[in-house]
Amino acid sequence: MSAAGSADVRHAARRPTPASSAAVSADAPVVNAITVDVEDYFQVSAFDRTVSRASWDSFASRVVPNTQRVLELFDRAGVRATFFVLGWVADRYPALVREIARAGHEVASHGYHHQLLYMLTPDQFRDDVRSAKVAIESALGQPVLGFRAPSYSIIDSTLWTFDILIEEGYVYDASIFPIRHDRYGIPDAPRHVHLIERAAGSLLEFPGSTVRVAGVNLPIAGGGYFRLLPYQWTRWGIRHVNETEREPVVFYFHPWEIDPDQPRMRAGAATRLRHYSGLAKTAGRLERLLRDFRFDSASAVLHLEAEASPRAVVAV
Ligand SMILES: [Zn+2]
Repeated sequence: MSAAGSADVRHAARRPTPASSAAVSADAPVVNAITVDVEDYFQVSAFDRTVSRASWDSFASRVVPNTQRVLELFDRAGVRATFFVLGWVADRYPALVREIARAGHEVASHGYHHQLLYMLTPDQFRDDVRSAKVAIESALGQPVLGFRAPSYSIIDSTLWTFDILIEEGYVYDASIFPIRHDRYGIPDAPRHVHLIERAAGSLLEFPGSTVRVAGVNLPIAGGGYFRLLPYQWTRWGIRHVNETEREPVVFYFHPWEIDPDQPRMRAGAATRLRHYSGLAKTAGRLERLLRDFRFDSASAVLHLEAEASPRAVVAV
């Protein structure tokens, strides 16, 4: 991996401005973002207690074929997406990173070691997001603009991470979930795309998508909610945000969510229910979702597309 290459692309990234808005005019169809957090079945936060990072290399990886199935699914639907890739995965499977980009998708960062932000010191966080950016950009040859924290772990007590993300050259973030949840969430955060201004500068935030019902924000667009609740909930929620609020949603899922044959890990009953329910149905549901709504990459929806093109690699 080349540190010099990473420095070039860091300088090339333009700062977002308040004019960068994802809101759309009255009659244009709303284009939503669809995103994939590229991690293996044994790397999810729910298994942190039973699976140490040092043991990751001893598991039979399924991330490459599972991500290739996701690419086929998008190809059949003619949809471009954003893949938030773990630096750990990019270092081991750089050809996968290039395959994602060759298919026309955006590649962004999911951190290096999938560590929950509230478990890290500022130095540890900087090291993690810098290593992830270097690993992905070395494989890709293009700048990485976006970041999604493992398990949406930007919460009230980890807002300091934005200064580091800005300093490390990230242009947008998709890590705040404006809901109440046992492991994450900032319930009173803005529900739609907004600019975050910090001492280090600014970046765009694309928060996890919700509908507001009786004063409470409920999640509508991805993960366990998509597998565990009826498809009609997701469809109603996205329609509501698109048609009533005229705003895009950001949908998310993981390659392991379309892999019903993945090895079962040791975990408590609630974790196993959340992780393993609905796996066999997810690919079909995704195909339906891609037919029912319009989707594009996060950087396209945020109007940051020019920076994701190879031209942006030219050093300034
Ligand atoms: Zn993750």
